[in-house]
Amino acid sequence: MIDTWHSYSGNIHIHTRFSDGEKLHDAIAQDAIAAGLDFIIVTDHNVYVTGVEGYYRNERGRVLLLTGEEVHNVRRRPQASHFLAYNARKELASYASDPQSLIDETVKAGGLGFLAHPYEEDLPLMGEINLGWHDWDIEGFSGLEIWNYMSSFKNVIARHTTDLRWKNKLIAKLGALRIALHPERYLNGPEPETLALWDDFLSKGMRVNAIGSSDAHGTPMQLGPWRREIFPYEFLFRAVNTHVLLSRPFNGDVEHDRLLLMQAIGRGNCWVGYDMAGPTKDFRFTVQGAAKGIMGDEMPFGFGATLQIRAPVRCRIRVIRHGQVVTEVERESNLTYIPDEPGAYRVECLIPYEGRERGWIYSNPIYLR
Ligand SMILES: [Zn+2]
Ligand SMILES: [Zn+2]
Repeated sequence: MIDTWHSYSGNIHIHTRFSDGEKLHDAIAQDAIAAGLDFIIVTDHNVYVTGVEGYYRNERGRVLLLTGEEVHNVRRRPQASHFLAYNARKELASYASDPQSLIDETVKAGGLGFLAHPYEEDLPLMGEINLGWHDWDIEGFSGLEIWNYMSSFKNVIARHTTDLRWKNKLIAKLGALRIALHPERYLNGPEPETLALWDDFLSKGMRVNAIGSSDAHGTPMQLGPWRREIFPYEFLFRAVNTHVLLSRPFNGDVEHDRLLLMQAIGRGNCWVGYDMAGPTKDFRFTVQGAAKGIMGDEMPFGFGATLQIRAPVRCRIRVIRHGQVVTEVERESNLTYIPDEPGAYRVECLIPYEGRERGWIYSNPIYLR
């Protein structure tokens, strides 16, 4: 198969010193280049930072840096329902108190809006209530952040320490420290609750695009006398990323490349890859037949429509329709499937990593109508 697609990797949920992150844009861009990313979108809390977009370069390469915003209502208790706005190119924090107008204003401005870390566990160890999405009377959002690395890390700690919370807080804290030292041994994939939510939307016929990201802050972690920058930006840029597939390459012009990138994310021509377990850049999910397309595309059902998956290495590959696995293979790098009914077909790949099979690739669906 001749592959004419252009694959780009990026991280699109990042905080700088303009909110609660540790570094500024230039230093974060350098970390992104070091991690081999092609684009990053910084999303500070309730502030749209201007004057920093563009290509950042060094002797190792370049990265496109764009600005979005993570908006939430600071007067809400808990301060949940975080909204990621991309490409609205204006301040949106003033709409934070009403999630629907926040979505509407984002879309009206030509932007895309995603629900950040939609499912989270309460974290009694730290006295925190979960910051998932709580305000479900909404419509018109672009999609879900199906995998947020830092949120997954918090959830792992919550699940490991909940039983201990009344017995021995010190044991619980040491357990959390062990997880923080080796998060790769504990993270298995997106929260099953988030995937179920996504499948539920898809089974209702909705178009809901998936993205995945780091939520990098670069914050030092303090646990008693022990203090270190536990999740540096560069580390996180090698973990959960959003990968887009473009029919035309970036040409180095910021406006040109912004348009291509935003169209791809808006159409779902992208997948979420856990690149720490293995690079996912060469993943492909296409539909062949009378009409041809890729993940995120909508095609007529029938006419010999055949789904084709190519994984970067042999792994477990699943095709999922509305929450049901319709076909699955083990230790294969290719899978072909001819659907027998219309619907939204998405792909998951799992790979052995750190002694266990882990979630690796989560593709947006191909919609057969
Ligand atoms: Zn958030
Ligand atoms: Zn965030």
